[in-house]
Amino acid sequence: MCGIIGVIGQNNAPFKVFAGLKKLEYRGYDSWGISFKSCNGIETIKKTGHLTQPEKGSLNHNSYCAMGHTRWATHGKVTVENAHPHFSNSKEIAIIHNGIVENFEELKNSLKEKSFSFLTETDTEVIANLIELFFRETKDFVQATRMALQKIEGNYAIVAMHKDTFELVGAGNGSPLVIGIGDKELFFASDVPAFLPYTKKVIYLNDNELAVLGK
Ligand code: GLU
Repeated sequence: MCGIIGVIGQNNAPFKVFAGLKKLEYRGYDSWGISFKSCNGIETIKKTGHLTQPEKGSLNHNSYCAMGHTRWATHGKVTVENAHPHFSNSKEIAIIHNGIVENFEELKNSLKEKSFSFLTETDTEVIANLIELFFRETKDFVQATRMALQKIEGNYAIVAMHKDTFELVGAGNGSPLVIGIGDKELFFASDVPAFLPYTKKVIYLNDNELAVLGK
């Protein structure tokens, strides 16, 4: 189990994600991380242990798109490298993930045959690289995410971002993912309390549904 949250649309997004993670920490607390969009692309902070106040200046007040994860490890030790978000080889795609990729070894081997390399011990990194594989083919981030998820066996909820698109892509199958409709901003989260200070309007995603939050 773990907690995931994403937000897009208004400034201070990384701070909203941090506050949301505090509400989700009951779902997992061995490590945590936040990725957010900035003029430098995607910036990330990751830590092991319980949530602690990020160092001053490490989160960006001007960022309008961010996502975060509080982990309860299933694949790979509790290390900063294994904490989420995880990146694809190009570093252009970031993902947070709740659940288990049952066929991750098979998928990892087939990606290695296609010259992908792996920096972590997690099953999650396989999803990031699968999205990149299909993105190279389609140049369509949403379609690439959909195609990657079709290859995955097991229960999951994910949120993914691409450095060049104004959107967050979320999907679930057997693990919870809810959407919050705020005032000019939209949320994904494992559980409603993560965004309750901003909205009470909620959509529950069904299994095998994919949603795109953006313009
Ligand atoms: N399987 C992933 C990992 O070990 C996600 C675990 C979770 O749901 O926290 O990193």
